Amino acid sequence: MKLIIFGPPGSGKGTYSSRLKERYGIERISTGEIFRAAMKEGSLLGKMVENYVKKGEIVPDEIVIEVVKKEIEGKENFILDGFPRTIKQAEALKEMVKIDAIILINCHEEILVEKICARRICSNPKCDGNYNIANIQKVIGGIEYKLPPLLPKNDMVCDKCGSPLVQRDDDKPEIVRERLKIYNQQTFPLIEYYKKEKIPFIEVWMNKAVDEIVEEIVNKLKNLGLI
Ligand code: AMP
Repeated sequence: MKLIIFGPPGSGKGTYSSRLKERYGIERISTGEIFRAAMKEGSLLGKMVENYVKKGEIVPDEIVIEVVKKEIEGKENFILDGFPRTIKQAEALKEMVKIDAIILINCHEEILVEKICARRICSNPKCDGNYNIANIQKVIGGIEYKLPPLLPKNDMVCDKCGSPLVQRDDDKPEIVRERLKIYNQQTFPLIEYYKKEKIPFIEVWMNKAVDEIVEEIVNKLKNLGLI
């Protein structure tokens, strides 16, 4: 099964795709994580993308497409998280594989900013531990948000590997707003692109606890006969 998970920064794409990986062994391919690991290692790729990632700007298409091409080669089951982000990337992906479905996470911007600024990730580049310290309970535009925090068992230490939790450099408010602006400008049109391509959409709202959202995604994947 080949999936894309779409949604604005902070909509929980990383968390839901990690859960799908745990339950169904679907490999998660996160371009953002690949870049952050490369930057930490100080590799050539890390040096090439560093300036863009730190400012929350889009990395040039040619670099991202090359990275994804290598990552998905020979793989049957994966979920793309953070790719594609531009029409050019979507067109390049179409040449590589046929996507079975797109998971689209909806959320109001006000909630996203609050949620992203409260995100904490594992400092170990090989671990995808992801937590959130915000407790959000409010109604916006008729959508009732009940988002409890996602806390580690031990204070500020990753449950999976015991490494300290940190805030991502690009999870600061001014950079978050820049990333949301870029998402709206460049990535939102991809939804139209894939609707025209007639790829099935699985649409969920990020307004409840992670387990409930994952259950909703799983049920919708079952309805499409994908699991
Ligand atoms: P993410 O973890 O998906 O929020 O990505 C973090 C950062 O990595 C983004 O703000 C971009 O600078 C860069 N990045 C990740 N994926 C892509 C992509 N598909 N195209 C361009 N830049 C990307």
